[in-house]
Amino acid sequence: MSTKNKLVFATNNVHKTDEVAQLLSLAYEVVNLKDIGCLVDIPETGNSFAENASLKSKYVVDNYQLDCFADDSGLEVEALNNEPGIFSARYSGVKDDLVNLQLLLKNMEGKSNRKAKFRTVISLMKDGENHLFEGEIKGQIRTTVSGTKGFGYDPIFEPDGYNITFAEMDMEQKNKISHRAIAMGKLIDFLKSSAK
Ligand code: IMP
Repeated sequence: MSTKNKLVFATNNVHKTDEVAQLLSLAYEVVNLKDIGCLVDIPETGNSFAENASLKSKYVVDNYQLDCFADDSGLEVEALNNEPGIFSARYSGVKDDLVNLQLLLKNMEGKSNRKAKFRTVISLMKDGENHLFEGEIKGQIRTTVSGTKGFGYDPIFEPDGYNITFAEMDMEQKNKISHRAIAMGKLIDFLKSSAK
């Protein structure tokens, strides 16, 4: 039996869990929602990334009495009053990446300010306290799609300092600079230092 502290990542994405589990392998046993038998779609009814991430981590703590972290991400476009933000996954009303991306391109027609950023907030509920970790990457919204890798709004997001979109980057390269990677890095540093 493992003597490591169990830490739940409130996600159903096995790939995300494996990645973090590897980074924390010495200090924690990282498990996901399915591993603890949590099959409900935890409601994300908050008004911010932080609120939604916290709702997910608190749900697990309240119902399973296990320490937990959860993430929430999205795209904020300056010329659209920071939309789609927390509604990124369902901007058009449906959970369809291509439909959402096309709506965003349409809403950006004729706009000269193309500034945008991807943001992630992670909530870690540990020993009864909520710790928040943020990551963001700034860039520009292209006028046309480019690239086939990644997901979501990747084909129209060009990070500052690059002349390719996220969808033209290898996963390895994106994972070094992305909003999620930055927030995860902060979480991992915190967990490693508090495990000492
Ligand atoms: P989640 O909170 O990580 O599930 O992200 C919510 C939504 O934000 C996704 O469904 C995407 O539409 C968008 N999004 C978040 N991160 C990315 C990214 O790295 N690339 C493209 N779209 C993203």
